[in-house]
Amino acid sequence: MAAKGGLSLNTATVRDAWTLEQCIDGCQRHGIPGIAPWRDKLQEMGVARAAKAIREAGLVVSGLCRGGMFPAADEAGRRAAIEDNRCAIDEAQAIGAQCLVLVCGGLPPGSKDLPGARNMVQDGLAAILPEARAAGVLLALEPLHPMTCADRSVLATLGQALDLCDALGEGTAVAADVYHVWWDPQVAAQMQRAGSRLAAFHVCDWLVPTTDTVFDRGMPGDGVIDIPALRGMAEAAGYRGLLEVEILSRTWWARDPDEVVRICKERHATAC
Ligand code: ZN
Repeated sequence: MAAKGGLSLNTATVRDAWTLEQCIDGCQRHGIPGIAPWRDKLQEMGVARAAKAIREAGLVVSGLCRGGMFPAADEAGRRAAIEDNRCAIDEAQAIGAQCLVLVCGGLPPGSKDLPGARNMVQDGLAAILPEARAAGVLLALEPLHPMTCADRSVLATLGQALDLCDALGEGTAVAADVYHVWWDPQVAAQMQRAGSRLAAFHVCDWLVPTTDTVFDRGMPGDGVIDIPALRGMAEAAGYRGLLEVEILSRTWWARDPDEVVRICKERHATAC
């Protein structure tokens, strides 16, 4: 069996308490080898300054969150999304991110055209892929739980994401987040199918009952997801990367960030 991948701190986990600079410092103090910044925090710190600080701290950047959000009601909106993704590619390259995580976007406001929105995602990806390839930035499609299909991601399963990777080719990959894939009866087969295209593995937990579909994620071990089983599937497919803890939670955001990070570390050891 492969050794368990080390921990990476997705900065959303301590979103309300720490700047990116504090996250970098926190990773060092807590002995966490990886970090995954969100773009707002990165831009707030300044990309060049952040890149230098991350490099000097010796941190692996398991991903940059996030690009995507391609569907829009009109051509100008779709073009703006593509431009924004080009900026995200530059940022990912600047900080040496192992991938740019993409949340592909939901239905344009007022639209019921789901196949049309999925086509906009594919067209958007095709438009940015040449820049991504030239920059050496891997585009990691993150399928989201189908409950977010309307407003966040018309890409709902790993299988669907891999179909897109098959269609688009080199430079595309998938990000598996246990929160989004755990329910899927095809998850083992699709992880296997992903193989070397599995670019990131995000951990958190599904609480019962869950009170908010976006901001009520659980700490690993507090919910119903068999995280070690999913990690086993990822490892069987060849995944050797970091386990990125990504907890969007109003409950955890209200806690002391050092305490949150300490518990993440403990649960990485015991519940992942
Ligand atoms: Zn994720």
